[in-house]
Amino acid sequence: MRRDDSSLSHDERAFVESRAKMLLQRADAWGVVPVPIEDLLSAAKLKVAPTSMFDPRAIAAYAVAQGKKAADVVKRALGKILGILDAHEEVIHIDDTVLESRQRFLKLHETGHFELPHQRKIFRFFEDSEEELNPSIADKFEREANNFARYAIFNGNAYAERAADLPLAFSSVKKMQRGFKVSLYAGLREYARTHRHICIAMAVEKPALCPQNGWSAEIRRVETSFAFEQQFGRPQLPAITVTHPLWSLVPFGKVTKPTRVRLTDLNGEQHEFIGEALDTTYNILIFACPTALFKR
Ligand SMILES: [Zn+2]
Repeated sequence: MRRDDSSLSHDERAFVESRAKMLLQRADAWGVVPVPIEDLLSAAKLKVAPTSMFDPRAIAAYAVAQGKKAADVVKRALGKILGILDAHEEVIHIDDTVLESRQRFLKLHETGHFELPHQRKIFRFFEDSEEELNPSIADKFEREANNFARYAIFNGNAYAERAADLPLAFSSVKKMQRGFKVSLYAGLREYARTHRHICIAMAVEKPALCPQNGWSAEIRRVETSFAFEQQFGRPQLPAITVTHPLWSLVPFGKVTKPTRVRLTDLNGEQHEFIGEALDTTYNILIFACPTALFKR
């Protein structure tokens, strides 16, 4: 499974969310769906660089204008990072070749680095110094910025509230995706994480055949609702193998139509779930919820 990209302590998360809420309110965007990114950026007094720095010519120009060190920072970031905050110039750079829903998230992620006061100070300091930010602090900053972006893009509880009014099903995630202008992947994660009913979502790799262990699909991420975790625990497996109860949901084509599976709870009791899956070409997404609660 991939390294956790969002876990924070309760207090850290509450602080990040309070700063995101303050920005939403300053931008008059509290409860507005889809969240008006441009209004949030102007409330934060941030600009998006007009030409993407991720264009090689732009890097060269930036190097001339800002000196070699800045260009090194950019080059190091390239290949793994799709957004950059320049806290001094109050400008963010976004890779404009990625999907629009991804760009929206990236803009809010970079805004998070800027709007979290402890981060802004340190960003300015590190841009000026020869030092590198301690990797464990850098990693925490990333998780904080991810939570900031998540809270802003789903506008606090707006997504969870809308989800509560719709049937418990993958189709509801698809329906809400358009309104919130998020990727299906981000929407599904938020759906499972915040739903009041029992449900589980996963992103998995394409199934692969291993000579020793046969077929399996590596698990990239798992999100469960609180109710799911209480009754079934949180799956810690690295992969779904052919003997796993969710194996029949792993798609070999574009989709897995609603299929019944049985999951065992922490008391050893079996429950019938209905699950489906979709290969978006970016991600293979799986969703399951109890059959008794499922509605088409
Ligand atoms: Zn970041």
